[in-house]
Amino acid sequence: MADEPTPIHSSCHCGAITVIVPRLPDHINHCQCTICRRYGAAWGYYHPDEVKIETKPNAVTKQYIWGDRELSFNFCDTCGCVMYWWPLQPPPTDGGEYQMGLNTSNVNPEVLRFVDRKYEYSWVKQPLRSKEASHQDDLAKY
Ligand SMILES: [Zn+2]
Repeated sequence: MADEPTPIHSSCHCGAITVIVPRLPDHINHCQCTICRRYGAAWGYYHPDEVKIETKPNAVTKQYIWGDRELSFNFCDTCGCVMYWWPLQPPPTDGGEYQMGLNTSNVNPEVLRFVDRKYEYSWVKQPLRSKEASHQDDLAKY
């Protein structure tokens, strides 16, 4: 939307962490994998170079790293809001996709009202790459 305010600000509830991106996401993904459905996260995807993270001096960003350790989930230690996931691997040398996930649940909903939303329940039974990336609740097979 040309009339949408940019950049987009995504702030945790206590205001310690703000993630700033230059544009609306292409779509918002309400991922239903074992961890994202617990977070209730609504991901918008960006190249890490597009993203600016501002933290107040007292901010503490906690991380949860799990499974195949391809990414970290980052949340505010004060208010508990899940802010973003970030790739732990370097960019692919073949020019393939390289992205982070912004939890758009921390963005003013008015700003996102025209963005398409995806609820991909196929994730629930999508085959997993390794047993280490599974959760005991997973319906998926590996
Ligand atoms: Zn906070």
